[in-house]
Amino acid sequence: MPADVVIVGGGGVGSSVAYHLTARPDFSGKVVVVERDPSYATASTALSAGGVRQQFSTPENIRLSLYGAHFIRDIGRLLEVEGDRPDINFIEGGYLFLASASGAPVLEANHALQKREGADNTLLDPTALKTRFPWLAIDGLALGSLGLSMEGWFDPYGLLQALKRKARAQGVTYVTDTAVGLERSGERISAVTLASGERIAGRWIVNAAGPHAGKLAAMAGLDLPVVPRKRFVYVFDCREKLAPRVPLLIDPSGVWVRTEGAGYIGGISPPEDQDPDCEDLEISYDLWEDIVWPTLAERIPAFEAVKLQRAWAGHYDYNTLDQNGIIGAHPDVPNFLLANGFSGHGIQQAPATGRAIAELICVGRFTTIDLTRFGYERIRRGEPLTELNVV
Ligand SMILES: Cc1cc2nc3c(=O)[nH]c(=O)nc-3n(C[C@H](O)[C@H](O)[C@H](O)COP(=O)(O)OP(=O)(O)OC[C@H]3O[C@@H](n4cnc5c(N)ncnc54)[C@H](O)[C@@H]3O)c2cc1C
Repeated sequence: MPADVVIVGGGGVGSSVAYHLTARPDFSGKVVVVERDPSYATASTALSAGGVRQQFSTPENIRLSLYGAHFIRDIGRLLEVEGDRPDINFIEGGYLFLASASGAPVLEANHALQKREGADNTLLDPTALKTRFPWLAIDGLALGSLGLSMEGWFDPYGLLQALKRKARAQGVTYVTDTAVGLERSGERISAVTLASGERIAGRWIVNAAGPHAGKLAAMAGLDLPVVPRKRFVYVFDCREKLAPRVPLLIDPSGVWVRTEGAGYIGGISPPEDQDPDCEDLEISYDLWEDIVWPTLAERIPAFEAVKLQRAWAGHYDYNTLDQNGIIGAHPDVPNFLLANGFSGHGIQQAPATGRAIAELICVGRFTTIDLTRFGYERIRRGEPLTELNVV
């Protein structure tokens, strides 16, 4: 089965590439998406917390996520199929980054950059924090940064399904199979071979394999530092009803929490030395007992009386160099396009990443957000593009 573009991985990123490509009037080729598991039971997208924010320290991340927020706001119109308008429950509840005295200058510098880039957020001193959020313990806090609009959370699985449905309506073919090989001769990958024995030839091959992107690249003899790293999300109820709603709050310790329906979800990313590459999805309840819950109860005293309802685990598509996306052609194999390594912020950046890959295929360069710095070259040079606000 020949195609113009073969996308390996039909999660949020792969489906966004498929949608953006086929939405362009200057593209008329055939697009095939190879997805091994259409239930998406273990896909990063389906297990994501679905947050979108502009509170980053890297201009490209702010721009990528701002496009994501606009896209999500307008999703009903953009991804309508036969009069059916998707609704992915975008709640613009804001992110609230909290800083101690040592972290305050960074928060201030980030805030200035975010405002220049068009983000809508405000700095709050401890008194203003307490006035706005009476349930918050302000001990040890020097500053907070609160998103006022275009930040919050949405249904990530809903976004994936809406992108996929629209991509299909625009002529994209989804094939249920596993890519097991990439046929490479010199500077080109000519085909993807599948577990079924089939082979799909393509002019462009897109790596959208999420946490397994490193493994896919290795099939062409290429090194890509993207691995699965496990993250837990704890779902809990609190007897006391907190008003106003808890935004996506990030404590200086790294523990995060937000409102989810009538309850809450929260978690923490472990330190690098306790964060092995990991294939399983077994849940650690010790992390909840020993770190997440006690930290939350200090920051929001009402959380001393909570009931853990359940928890889930998912894999970040973790870029071990700098936890930022790797977007663009592989320099050794220019028809192999990378859309990988977003770590904890990939679903909000899926819309802009899909648009960027479509620009590379149709125009040969980025025409909206210049993502040159997100290219593979930094990986080769071993020069991280450090993002200070990783969650
Ligand atoms: C717990 C958790 C919380 C998160 N919270 C947020 C958040 O708040 N905000 C945010 O923006 N991001 C968040 N993320 C990150 C975000 O979910 C990911 O960055 C994003 O979903 C990656 O999308 P993807 O399409 O690249 O990967 P995936 O959704 O994993 O899709 C990749 C697909 O490729 C398929 N595949 C892989 N290998 C092959 C192969 N060889 N052949 C065929 N198919 C293959 C897989 O089956 C999979 O469906 C979170 C992630 C987790 C785990």
